[in-house]
Amino acid sequence: MENKMGSIDFRKDFPFFESSINKGLVYFDNAATSQRPACVNRAVEDFNNFNNANPLRGLYDLSVRATDLYENARAKVAAFLNAPSDSHIIFTRNATESLNLVAYTYGMAFVEEGDEVVISAMEHHSNILPWQMVCSAKKARLVWLECDASGIIPASEWQTKITAKTKIVSVAHVSNVFGITNPVKEIASYAHKVGNGGKGAVMIVDGAQSVPHMKVDVQDIGADFLAFSGHKALGPMGIGALYAREKFLEQMPPFLRGGEMIEYVTRESATYAELPHKFEAGTVNAGGAVGLAAALDYIEKVGFDFIEKNDNALAAFIMNGMKTIPHVHVIGNDDPDRHCGIVTFTIDDVHPHDIASMLSSENVAIRAGHHCAQPLMQKLGVGSTARASVYFYNTQKEAEVFLEKLSGVRKWMGLS
Ligand code: PMP
Repeated sequence: MENKMGSIDFRKDFPFFESSINKGLVYFDNAATSQRPACVNRAVEDFNNFNNANPLRGLYDLSVRATDLYENARAKVAAFLNAPSDSHIIFTRNATESLNLVAYTYGMAFVEEGDEVVISAMEHHSNILPWQMVCSAKKARLVWLECDASGIIPASEWQTKITAKTKIVSVAHVSNVFGITNPVKEIASYAHKVGNGGKGAVMIVDGAQSVPHMKVDVQDIGADFLAFSGHKALGPMGIGALYAREKFLEQMPPFLRGGEMIEYVTRESATYAELPHKFEAGTVNAGGAVGLAAALDYIEKVGFDFIEKNDNALAAFIMNGMKTIPHVHVIGNDDPDRHCGIVTFTIDDVHPHDIASMLSSENVAIRAGHHCAQPLMQKLGVGSTARASVYFYNTQKEAEVFLEKLSGVRKWMGLS
């Protein structure tokens, strides 16, 4: 479980870890945001320094260059997700915007009174609030797939709750609390067979936590839409993407209206640009897209075999270590291989915010709070939890430090 593969020491590629400011910091909040290798920062900087022009409109060489870089980034995302073509990829700011785009366009256009939208109990707020909005506006019903305490959604849940009334199913591929991978392929297959009066419900996958950690093939899992964020996958903040099947993009009205997304405008009306530009109104975040493409290249260089092996090995090390610390309770599955490097936990009689504060004073960064999954917290009967989440550049040494500091938390709080 060392962070080396062949002769490549990945950690050295990350200025964050090399800097004196972060010396000794154990960064275990990767499910919130990952760190960036120098090549990603350099790609963004090169764009800013040498290739900055408004893409998609200029007729001069520099703008063409900026356009090419932007469109090459789209091609990278498409290939990374195995999308059938580049026009299936829409750049957004993040997974939240991607999910809202689908809700405001597909949802508001096609969900009707009496329809049902199915989500799961472990969704992030970004995959709850847009559907609450659609259901409320359209007098549709929001239906919840329940999970057990280990994070598993039994097949009986989707086999009873996805019905002919279901128009949309939207589920997290990997939960940001349990770290569990949901059987989205099976759910999609059932939704496509049974939903929407047998014509098939639309399957949306929230890939915010899966895309950085495992090979996601949108065609294989049967996703009609898939949302993810660049900043959890080594990329910059402010860039994300939505994969969408062309058939739906063609039917859907635009999300935002204005420049760049039109073909022709008169005083009365407009015709829209070809896909995917119909969904990218205004000047795009080309530098961010270029940075995201560099990040995905880097992830491929590391390889998902290595990423998954390190995620699982570190989750196992952390979970085994936690078993030896009295009063620590892991949330979710007992099997570390089902955590995607995410270990959410509580300590008896210690507020998770105090756990994070105490660890911060020991140079260990973890997350504490409701993780934007308050309905799940309510179901679990907790207000908040603490969460340690690793990525491939984290090491066993860091896990040892984390566990050692964790074992001192109750004492630090004056408890035995
Ligand atoms: N879905 C899941 C499962 C997430 O973990 C997150 C980020 N915590 C999001 C959606 C939202 O991501 P972003 O804030 O980048 O839009």
